[in-house]
Amino acid sequence: MTGEDVSAALQRITGIVGEENFLTDDEELRYLSQDYFNAANPVTAAIRPTTIPSLAEAVAIATDAGIAIFQRGGGYSYTDAYLPTRWPSILIDTRGLDRIVEINQRDMFVTVEAGCTWAQVDEALAKAGLRIPCAGPQSGLWATIGGSISQGALGHGSGRSGISTESVLGLEVVLADGSIMTTGSAAQSRHNAFFRFYGPDVTGPFCQDSGALGIKATITLRLQTRPALTDGLSFVCDSFDAASQAIFPLSQAAPFHDALQRFLAERRPEMTQHNMGAVSVYSATSTNGFLYEPVFQWTDVPDLFHRRHTPGHIIERADRNEPKPSARVLASELKDRVVDLMFEHGGIHLQIGKAYPYLVDRDPRHIRLLAELKAAVDPQNLINPGALGLPVE
Ligand SMILES: Cc1cc2nc3c(=O)[nH]c(=O)nc-3n(C[C@H](O)[C@H](O)[C@H](O)COP(=O)(O)OP(=O)(O)OC[C@H]3O[C@@H](n4cnc5c(N)ncnc54)[C@H](O)[C@@H]3O)c2cc1C
Repeated sequence: MTGEDVSAALQRITGIVGEENFLTDDEELRYLSQDYFNAANPVTAAIRPTTIPSLAEAVAIATDAGIAIFQRGGGYSYTDAYLPTRWPSILIDTRGLDRIVEINQRDMFVTVEAGCTWAQVDEALAKAGLRIPCAGPQSGLWATIGGSISQGALGHGSGRSGISTESVLGLEVVLADGSIMTTGSAAQSRHNAFFRFYGPDVTGPFCQDSGALGIKATITLRLQTRPALTDGLSFVCDSFDAASQAIFPLSQAAPFHDALQRFLAERRPEMTQHNMGAVSVYSATSTNGFLYEPVFQWTDVPDLFHRRHTPGHIIERADRNEPKPSARVLASELKDRVVDLMFEHGGIHLQIGKAYPYLVDRDPRHIRLLAELKAAVDPQNLINPGALGLPVE
């Protein structure tokens, strides 16, 4: 691949997506190349395709020229999931693909383009008295359905219906060569998208793949009738043990909680020195999972991502803070230690990205099958290289 090949390819891609959707502005590329927590060297260019054929054609041209592709939805993850690892590279901002393709009330499914946000889809479904069993993450004002299904996000409804990917019936995925693969019942040309399982489930590997296997163009999700009334109840539990047993009889939640408390007590002096606090968020997932999310907080100056996603009066206040690079280093280290602790307690992760130990100690046959699948759909390893912990080169 020469510099000329790359510029010729970028020029052709501009012609396909339109100049207004071909982004080279430095600040925009810097913004798109950072997530909620980390930043990487910016991609060479970014595109915001507005149709699926233009997305597919752009992917084919890019990979033909050896350009790596990183796809991003709302950008609300914090596990380096779409951060570039190779250059030259193009970031695909999928938010231009924001059509609700079909709400099928008779067969109870909705098909949306990947860049639709959860809030947008929920608003449309509410008008029809419908909802998706898992209502998506709390970040759903910005987070896209495509990004969330690639992460396995959970949210309201997960306690009863499981994580978001359990609501998925089928996908259309743009593969590295620009071809579009359909999964689920719609993969047979005269059938609609109403059902996921008919023989081996090909949708599954593309769910929670952190974008390693392709670019989701559409997602079909199951629907249920929206209750006429929803209300909330809150409970106070006397101890964490009670909480985990009250909500979930999962054996490892309480031992992890105790180990985390011991760890935080050990590290408290450093955290206090950096004015750092820790809170935890818990959530039930169906009948067999207990989500435990420790969050570290400290005062710092906002980066570009947060500037664009936070109300001005909060940014004004935060701008009075001193930059705290050492607190950020400490937070990264604490995060890594907590991930080790989670691993020791049998924890698994939803948003794997490039941060969580998905491949560690995994059955080698499983890893081999995954590597073969990756090679089949992305033979040059150009789609989000490094995602899931797969090789970057
Ligand atoms: C304030 C806040 C609240 C949050 N609340 C929750 C919560 O309640 N529950 C929860 O589970 N998570 C939560 N998260 C984490 C995160 O927001 C979710 O995982 C969310 O679903 C990410 O969606 P996104 O569109 O922002 O994805 P992105 O961050 O843009 O991308 C995530 C991954 O998906 C890939 N990807 C994106 N689009 C596509 C596509 N079309 N095809 C293939 N791959 C793609 C990217 O390459 C990347 O690997 C929260 C985060 C924040 C900051």
